[in-house]
Amino acid sequence: MSDSTVRIGLVLPDVMGTYGDGGNALVLRQRLRMRGYQAEIVEITLADPVPDSLDIYTLGGAEDSAQRLATRHLRRYPGLQQAAAKGAPVLAICAAIQVLGHWYETSTGERVDGVGMIDVTTAPQTTRAIGEVTTTPRLAGLTAALTGFENHRGGTTLGPDATGLARVTRGVGNGVGDGLEGVVQGSVIGTYMHGPALARNPELADLLLARALGVQDLEPLPLPEVEQLRRERLRA
Ligand code: GLN
Repeated sequence: MSDSTVRIGLVLPDVMGTYGDGGNALVLRQRLRMRGYQAEIVEITLADPVPDSLDIYTLGGAEDSAQRLATRHLRRYPGLQQAAAKGAPVLAICAAIQVLGHWYETSTGERVDGVGMIDVTTAPQTTRAIGEVTTTPRLAGLTAALTGFENHRGGTTLGPDATGLARVTRGVGNGVGDGLEGVVQGSVIGTYMHGPALARNPELADLLLARALGVQDLEPLPLPEVEQLRRERLRA
C-alpha cells in the first residue's frame, strides 16, 4: 500500500457497471472500514488516465457499445495492466472479462481486440444466458458456494494460462461447454456474476482484500444479514 489508506479503483463506472456492479467497490470499502482500515474509492472515468498506483481495482459489466469504449481507453492508458503485473488484485465482472482478454466478438459478429491481460477469448453464443448462477469454487481460499445473476450472450474460452474460478452447479457460466465459471490468472479474478458479486459472496471479497493488504487472513466479520441473504439466494 502507498500509505495507510487503502485505495480501491472503480474503473470506468461511466461505461461499465450494469446491475449495480459499482457496489463491489462499496463492499470492499465497507469491509475494510468495519475492520478499522481507512479506505476510499477512486473513480476512474473516460476523462481520466488509468493510474497504476491503487491497491485494488474493480470493473463492472457493460453493453457492447460501452464495452468498446472501455476497451479503447484501457488500451490507451495501460495503468491497469501495470498494476496487475505488480500484483494488485483486479476483479472483472462479465463484459470486463471479455475486455481484458485477447479479443471478443460483439453480438453482431465484429471482432474487437481486447486488453490482453488474460488468456481468454469470447464469441457470441446462440442463446443469451440469463438467470441465477451457482458454482463451486476451484480457487484455493474459497470454500463457500458462489452465487450471482448472469446476463450475457458472450461465451468465454480459457487458454492455457487461465483457469476457471469455479464449476457451475446451476446456470451457464462461461458458456462454452467446459462447465466452468469465471477466470483466474495472476492477480486477476473474473466472473460473470452480477449481484453485486461481492455483496453476495463475502468470502470472495475478503480474499481480494487480503491480497490487497498483503496479509494471510483477515479478522472475520460476522454479518448475519449477509448470511441470511446468501441463504435465501442459494435456496431460491
Ligand atoms: N455485452 C456482453 C455480453 O452480452 C456483456 C454483458 C454484460 O456485461 N452483462 O456478453
